[in-house]
Amino acid sequence: MSTETSKEFFESILGLGPDWQVSEVRLDKTSDKVTLDLSLRAGTKVACPECGKRCAIYDRNAPREWRHLDTMQLKTVLRARLPRANCPEHGPQTVRVPWADPMARFTLAFEAHAIDVLENARSTTQACDLLKIGWATADRIMERGVARGLERRKLEDLRHVGIDESERSGDRLPKAARRASEASQKSFLKGHRYITTLNDLDRGRVLEVVEGRTEEDALALWGKIPETSRATIKAVAMDMWQAFENAARRMVPGAEIVHDKFHIAKHLNDGVNRVRIEEHRRLLREGDDRLKGTRWFWLRAEDNLTDAQYESFRDIKDAALKTSKAWLIKEAFRFFWVVPKTSDEAEEYFGQWYRHTIYSKLEPMKKVARMLKERLGNVVTWWRHPITNAVSEGLNSRIQSIKSAARGFHSFASYRVRILFFCGKLDLKPRLTHSI
Ligand SMILES: [Zn+2]
Repeated sequence: MSTETSKEFFESILGLGPDWQVSEVRLDKTSDKVTLDLSLRAGTKVACPECGKRCAIYDRNAPREWRHLDTMQLKTVLRARLPRANCPEHGPQTVRVPWADPMARFTLAFEAHAIDVLENARSTTQACDLLKIGWATADRIMERGVARGLERRKLEDLRHVGIDESERSGDRLPKAARRASEASQKSFLKGHRYITTLNDLDRGRVLEVVEGRTEEDALALWGKIPETSRATIKAVAMDMWQAFENAARRMVPGAEIVHDKFHIAKHLNDGVNRVRIEEHRRLLREGDDRLKGTRWFWLRAEDNLTDAQYESFRDIKDAALKTSKAWLIKEAFRFFWVVPKTSDEAEEYFGQWYRHTIYSKLEPMKKVARMLKERLGNVVTWWRHPITNAVSEGLNSRIQSIKSAARGFHSFASYRVRILFFCGKLDLKPRLTHSI
C-alpha cells in the first residue's frame, strides 16, 4: 500500500474527526509496532478547553503518545504534539483531543477494550498478558473506569440495602505477594482484619466499601452515600452487630432494621453445636460414642437429608439426648419464618418458642433466645420488608475471589477500586464519540 493510501486507510478507521489527520505511518518491524503521527489540518483553529472558544494556536507541546488498539497484532501507538489554544480570556491552554481523556496514556478505544478484557479474564495477570500492559497500568485503567462509573451512577430510588462485614485474612496471600509489600501491608492488612460493604439488595451491587467494622467505620461508609439517596431507603439488612445498628439509626433514621435470617440461623446452629460438643464429651467419659461424627447432621434441615442419611440420623435424633432437644428448638425456629403471616403473629409465635427454649435448660440455646428477644423489634420487621443479606453474601464470595485472583494489594484504595470495578455494576467504559 502506498504511503498516501495507508494514511487515508488509518484516517478512515480511526475516525479522527474533522481537525486531525494522519501525517505519517511508521512501521517498526523489530518491535512489531506501528506509530501513527497525527497533526492538525492546516489552518485549523483549536478550542480552548475552558470555554470552548475557537482560538489561534499559541504553541505546541512536546510529542505525546497514546497506546491504541492493536492493528493486526502490531502494537499501535498514536503520536502527536498537542497545541495550546491562545484564549484571550484563559491564556494558553492545552487542547483536548477526541481520542483520549486529558491525562490518559491510552486512547479511549483502548481503555474500553481493556475494561472488557479485565472484566472477563480469569485474573489481572491474564488480562495484563493479553493486553501487553503492566500491573500498574491495569490498576490505573480500573481506577479511571470506577471514577467514571461513580460519577455516572444514579442513586435515586435506593430502597433495600444490606450492610455486611467480611474478613480479610492476610494469610491467604501467597508468600511472594506478602513479601513484596511487607511495609504497606503492615498497616493495610494487619491493621484491619475486616472490611464493611454497603450493598444495594435490589440491584445486587456493592455501593461502597470501607476498612474495619467499628461504628466509626460504618458511619464513614454511610457518609459516602448522599443524604438525599439515604432518605429513600426503606430497610437495611444486617446481622446483630451493635455498631452497625447504631450507625444505621443515626445515618438512615427513616429506615427499618431487619436482622438477617441467615445470621440468626447461624447463631442457632452454633448453639446446637455447643450443646453437642459438651454432651459428646460427657457421653465419651461413660464410654458412649453415639455422637461421634454427627456434627454435620445437626446442621442440616431434616428434609435436606437423603434417605440413607435419614436412616442413620433418626436413631440418634429420637434418643433422649440434649443435642436432639437443641436441634428441635432450632428446627422449630425455622417455622418462625413460615407460620406467622404478620409481624404481630410473629411476636406471638416467638413468645411460645422463647418460653419453650428457656424451659429447656440448655444454656447455649437460652443464650440465643435471649439475644433474639432483646432484638425482636428488628427481627419482626422482616414481615414488612422480607429482605436478607443473601445478596451481600454472594457479593462477599465474589470479593474473596477478586482477592485471590489479584494476589494481594498494596493499598486499601486499590482493593476498593477492584471491588467496585467487579461488583459495583458501574458504567465503566469511556464514551466513544466516533469510531476511534
Ligand atoms: Zn477560554
